[in-house]
Amino acid sequence: MKPSLQVRYSLAVVFILTAVVGLMGIAHLYGFRSLISASTLATAKTVIETIYQEEKKQGENLAWFLARILMDPVSRSRAPAIDGLIAAALDQPGVVYVVVHDAEGRVINRAGSWSKRAPDRDAIPGTGPREKAGDSPPAQIAQALSVGKIVSRVDGLTFHITAPIMGSGRPLGTVTVGTSLQATKTDVAKFGGYMDAVATSSMRYFLVLYIGIAMMIVVIGLGIGIVMVQDMARPIRALGRYMRRIGTGSYDEPPPFERSDELGDLARELGRMAQNLKKVAQVSRLATLGELAVGVAHELNQPLNTIRLAADNVLLSRRSGGGDSDFTESKLRLISEQAANMGDRIQRMCVVGRAEGGRTMIDARESVRDAVSLLASRFEDEGIEMSIDLPDDAALVLGRRNELAQVLINLIANARDAVLEAAQARGDPSDASRGHIWIRIELRPEEVIIEVADNGNGIDPDLVERIFDPFFTTKEVTKGTGLGLSISLGIVDAMGGRLGAANKDGGAAFTVHLPKADGAA
Ligand code: ADP
Repeated sequence: MKPSLQVRYSLAVVFILTAVVGLMGIAHLYGFRSLISASTLATAKTVIETIYQEEKKQGENLAWFLARILMDPVSRSRAPAIDGLIAAALDQPGVVYVVVHDAEGRVINRAGSWSKRAPDRDAIPGTGPREKAGDSPPAQIAQALSVGKIVSRVDGLTFHITAPIMGSGRPLGTVTVGTSLQATKTDVAKFGGYMDAVATSSMRYFLVLYIGIAMMIVVIGLGIGIVMVQDMARPIRALGRYMRRIGTGSYDEPPPFERSDELGDLARELGRMAQNLKKVAQVSRLATLGELAVGVAHELNQPLNTIRLAADNVLLSRRSGGGDSDFTESKLRLISEQAANMGDRIQRMCVVGRAEGGRTMIDARESVRDAVSLLASRFEDEGIEMSIDLPDDAALVLGRRNELAQVLINLIANARDAVLEAAQARGDPSDASRGHIWIRIELRPEEVIIEVADNGNGIDPDLVERIFDPFFTTKEVTKGTGLGLSISLGIVDAMGGRLGAANKDGGAAFTVHLPKADGAA
């Protein structure tokens, strides 16, 4: 079973909202992530630069200070004092080596380890393999001696800072301090970790915020969607109920609402259609009555002939002076019986033709008799046999006697058409002598079942679904209106019953199931 319009539209609204919010979220999330990465990178760069400059400044300060206090020991070549000073300098945090050179670039003194931290030994002042007497001093030492200013550079994770030792305005030598950037690296790594943690928690916060907002949008959207869909579904349901009532013959009911939109147009058109259907139903009813009138005229002709003959007999015998009172009485009784018979038939025709008021408890057997009495003699002439099987007990149902009779007339007339068509198919349209119609009523504990079966050619299985549709007919235009079964379905529906069709023993069988009315009610 297909889900209702309401469910389908609600799902569509949820789907569209989720898709839009999802796409927006992904775009935002992507943007937010890039922003965080960029700001993390920028911050990390600034921090590293600051730390680097700080390290450099500290190293330069230390080198400068050492150069100042080494001036005296170097100028006087006091090796123990130099040793003491550079050993003290080595104790400073981050300092890995200290080397003192003389004005010619020769090593005077040195302390600390550099081999591991200085892969490019050649580049480290005073540590290269060329460090022999007479070798030209390493470039950095030579530069510091010649410019008389601090010279520094970074090599791997080590800062090499060379400060000239000045005495009386000329360089006496240099002191080079190597400081390790290992601690800085660790700090930067720690900082990076911290920034990562900040980014991750920001992302998490953003994600939770986003999911919360997305859910809010979906819920609000869904609410609005449901209200909108309800606004559409309600009038459509009302129209459905209205159409069902039209289907059961309530043609005069006004449309369920007035609106200026398309649904209002639809309701107005349905109202107009109901009025047209009313006319068509009246025409169809008149057509049924017209057809019945032929049968009834034919039927009344016979008793009328009998009456005329009986009356003529009495007249003749009176004129000829004969005819005893018994003879006269028997003829008069015959006239009375025939007249009563005619009266009964006319009465039944009136019942079928009359527009009755409200629903009452009726005996379905009477409706069967009404229908049969109006059709029987004509069928007899056409050679169609009718078998009627009615229970002894009343078959009480709630409804209108004429309406139920109309249903049965439709079903019986269709059965007649079916057996005549079968005769035609056999090649002899005038011979319907093998045509048979069975009408029976079965009483069940809860319901009354009326069956009209025939031995025509049955219903084409491909058409079974459509035969109850208004205006569906397989008959010639002059013979069929296609309204008999749809009107019958409407009447049976309104009585709370159901009308079914099936093929049985080669022919067709239509069954009317009606809820049994409580006799005591
Ligand atoms: P109509 O009789 O004017 O065609 P109905 O609504 O009474 O309209 O019937 C619709 C169609 O149902 C018929 O045209 C016919 O094809 C099919 N039908 C009805 N009764 C029978 C039947 N007893 N046997 C076979 N087909 C039938």
